[in-house]
Amino acid sequence: MSTGVLLVDGLSDPVPVDPNSIFLDTIPPSPDSTPPGERAGKAEPQVSDRPIGAFILSLLGGVLILAEGAILAALSSAVGSAGCVGCSEAGQVIGGVGAFGVLMGILVVILSVILLARPENHLGLGIAILVFSLLSFFGGAGFILGLILGVVGGILAIVFVPEDDETPLPGDPGWIPARAPDWPCPKCGAWVSGFSTVCTRCGTARPAPTTAQAVGP
Ligand SMILES: [Zn+2]
Repeated sequence: MSTGVLLVDGLSDPVPVDPNSIFLDTIPPSPDSTPPGERAGKAEPQVSDRPIGAFILSLLGGVLILAEGAILAALSSAVGSAGCVGCSEAGQVIGGVGAFGVLMGILVVILSVILLARPENHLGLGIAILVFSLLSFFGGAGFILGLILGVVGGILAIVFVPEDDETPLPGDPGWIPARAPDWPCPKCGAWVSGFSTVCTRCGTARPAPTTAQAVGP
């Protein structure tokens, strides 16, 4: 059918590339590349470049804190205008609590968004999320769940390990060059792009690297 067509797509493009200058920032998405679970000494199987879990938990916590604050603030005017003895004061207290909750919720939401955008500041942002989530105790606590989610999200943000710290360097076990040299298929002899880990003609896997990158610790 169309087996030969795939080979035309610039598999052996002649652009000269210095493998030392571009490594790791141009890795194409390849399902066959080195499995990420092999990082030595790390219990966590996946290392993301962004603290997704911390972001989601903090965001949910902030929204809950904000929601309860808003409900309390809305409730305060109803209570305050009920006309009973002490209702005016009670309404003011509820309103104050609600306003504080709204403020804490907004802060946690904003911080969680910043956390997603700037994961390198995860430590300070995580501490701030943690503190404001705890402070939301005085603002309704986001139905309790909001406080808990915010605290957990803040802790996750604090302990988050940015992928940059984890990026294997040349010589590390997980390191693969971004632009490996083109390689000849041992089975059918076709030249295959270094981006591909299997032969595009017959599907044979790329042989283990034999050059200097194989020297491990
Ligand atoms: Zn082949």
